[in-house]
Amino acid sequence: MLSLPGAPEHGGLPCAGDTPIIDVSEDSKLLHVLLSFVFSFPVALPRSLEDAFALISAARKYDMGPAITAMRALLLKGEDSLITEENAFRAYGVACRHRLPEEASMAARATLLRPMSIKTYGEDLHLVTGSDLYALSQYRYKCIEAICVVMAGITAGEALELWVTDPVEGTPCRAEYGGNYPRWLTGFFKALARDVLNEDVFPSAQSMDRWRFHGTLLSHCGLVNTRNGLYACAFCKGLSDNVFKLEHFVQTVQDLINVAIRQVRKSYVSLFTLSISTSTKL
Ligand SMILES: [Zn+2]
Repeated sequence: MLSLPGAPEHGGLPCAGDTPIIDVSEDSKLLHVLLSFVFSFPVALPRSLEDAFALISAARKYDMGPAITAMRALLLKGEDSLITEENAFRAYGVACRHRLPEEASMAARATLLRPMSIKTYGEDLHLVTGSDLYALSQYRYKCIEAICVVMAGITAGEALELWVTDPVEGTPCRAEYGGNYPRWLTGFFKALARDVLNEDVFPSAQSMDRWRFHGTLLSHCGLVNTRNGLYACAFCKGLSDNVFKLEHFVQTVQDLINVAIRQVRKSYVSLFTLSISTSTKL
């Protein structure tokens, strides 16, 4: 399992008794944790980004898959995640320094929840090389593009069927239809895509903001003055009263966005790898 490349036989190595001694670059604390995966003794796993990435880096060096899997699970594990919205950029920088493209891409995704700016990143910028920062900006832009494609697909009717095709009591939407769907609904997603593109809304699943959606729907369902007096859209009101359906629709759109962002991450691991190897040579 510990396949040290090119490790010679006993001959020539210093020994302690009959045991050959091999110098390694890792400190005893890190090796102690690594060996716990081989000999199954209890040990506290690292709780700092620096220690976690150092351990993953060493585990990769020694082909210790279980240690990598265990540590990756700690990086993004609900409320106890080592990578958080607050430290995502720092995590990205540390992962790049350890030449860990998979972990860098995990951290890159977490950076999507904040603006990409000098003000946001502050002194953590010293952790990141220019090429790493460029890779991050390209990743972010690809995520923005992917979300806009999802929004365009929804506007064209791909997911709106979930919203309006079920039989609903009431008269058809009072607003004009845009294609097969109420115009306010297609307008909502067009506006959302515009805001994501302008970076007024962060490029994440939460760009499908349920409160903004509910607000737009309620605004549409309110009473308006018409030539025939006050009128409310009973069709969409009937939809808005169906809380389960409403939540399901919002969740479906968020799932579509998550899938799109996951695809970007896959394709950009190679870009991170290239970025990291380039910066290593400099
Ligand atoms: Zn309506």
